[in-house]
Amino acid sequence: MDLERIMNDLEKKHPGEMEYLQAVREVLESLEDVVNQNPQFEAAGIIDRLIEPDRVLSFKVPWLDDNGNVHVNLGYRVQFNNAIGPYKGGLRFHPSVNLSILKFLGFEQIFKNSLTTLPMGGGKGGSDFDPKGKSDKEIMRFCQSFMLELWKIIGPETDVPAGDIGVGGREIGYMYGMYKKLTREHTGVLTGKGLNWGGSLIRPEATGYGTVYFAKEMLATKGETFEGKTVCISGFGNVAWGAAQKVTEFGGKVVTISGPDGYVYDADGISGEKIEYMLELRASNQDIVQPYAEEFPEAKFVAGKHPWEMKCDVALPCATQNELNEEDANALVANGCMCVAEGANMPSTPGAVEILQANKILFGPGKAVNAGGVATSGLEMSQNAMKLNWRSGEVDEKLHHIMQSIHATCVKNGTEEDGYVNYVKGANIAGFLKVANSMLDQGIL
Ligand code: NDP
Repeated sequence: MDLERIMNDLEKKHPGEMEYLQAVREVLESLEDVVNQNPQFEAAGIIDRLIEPDRVLSFKVPWLDDNGNVHVNLGYRVQFNNAIGPYKGGLRFHPSVNLSILKFLGFEQIFKNSLTTLPMGGGKGGSDFDPKGKSDKEIMRFCQSFMLELWKIIGPETDVPAGDIGVGGREIGYMYGMYKKLTREHTGVLTGKGLNWGGSLIRPEATGYGTVYFAKEMLATKGETFEGKTVCISGFGNVAWGAAQKVTEFGGKVVTISGPDGYVYDADGISGEKIEYMLELRASNQDIVQPYAEEFPEAKFVAGKHPWEMKCDVALPCATQNELNEEDANALVANGCMCVAEGANMPSTPGAVEILQANKILFGPGKAVNAGGVATSGLEMSQNAMKLNWRSGEVDEKLHHIMQSIHATCVKNGTEEDGYVNYVKGANIAGFLKVANSMLDQGIL
């Protein structure tokens, strides 16, 4: 495989799309051997076809604020690859959203979904709309306007979006309502739905729980558990709160959470009523990190910094992309951190990953570690198709089993000669092979 030729061609077609190019390079670097050993992939142009999305829909989203002013945001859906199932991946509402970020996320989603063992292709979408500070009615009007365009290209057997940053149960509800009105169908077209109308138990906490299940397996390879471990978490969104809850349940102590402005350090541990308090703040659309430090005076707020400077045994970046850089990685290594598991998508920069791996720290990439969210979305799709609701214990057990199996797959495909498990390589190879072989079976399209 001529990596430089492929990357040069891609860069010419998508100049300046940094996150997308970064994600493609990271995956292809670990696939070089496998592609070279399988000339049938090159002959069928698998890599060149895999790295371009099948299609991209871009549209405007006009909406009215509470004062009657008109706003126009941009909306997108990137349908990346459906070789193994309908396109599947979240919708992100955040001012930073652009096509580079959505293509990076959609590309990663192909491999993540493949790893779950469920029949789901890869896609991603969203808008540069900022839900922060908006009223409930404004959110509703925006979601309805967004769906007015999106509904034409999605469907339970075509493309099944879910939540991501800025899109939780409320937003899914408003979008689903509009989809239902337009199509006159009550189908499982979105996941993360409310429990009364087709949602799955455990879906809200699934990504965080799955992250911790995966990290537990990583620790077990060293004969370790979460019991008594100090854990740094970033963010306090959908992923971070579930992770904080599960770490606590497994006997670990979560000492940080973070937001875009800085982080909170709480040496007493962030658990129980503290998590409940933050969930209340989240539900009322408020900032969390600073009010937390005010409500619990034993905690301190550190402005403008990442939590990775604090001493911990396990680090779980659960906020956003590129939030753990080389300086952070060096600090984690110096402080004796033994495991970094990515709850977010691509939170570690390539330089940081290199440092962590060079120091033989257990490093789990997002596409494997946080696959529990989409896996449980897959379980929601199955329940919708069967018109059944599984009990929470049943869903949690399936989730736990899926995370253990993804971990075993990474170990199988990523163990190096010296015994170090390269989870990045393991996840990329396993995710890729299933999709590439399916594309081969289906011909050149
Ligand atoms: P949320 O919007 O619920 O939470 C994101 C959290 O990160 C918020 O607490 C936010 O703070 C904080 N944050 C945002 N930007 C920064 C920053 N620059 N530095 C520090 N903190 C920041 O999103 P999710 O929890 O859903 O998603 C988090 C990550 O996990 C994303 O990478 C997403 O793609 C990934 N993911 C999510 C899944 C899911 O099921 N939700 C599934 C798989 C992956 P504030 O609210 O103050 O802005």
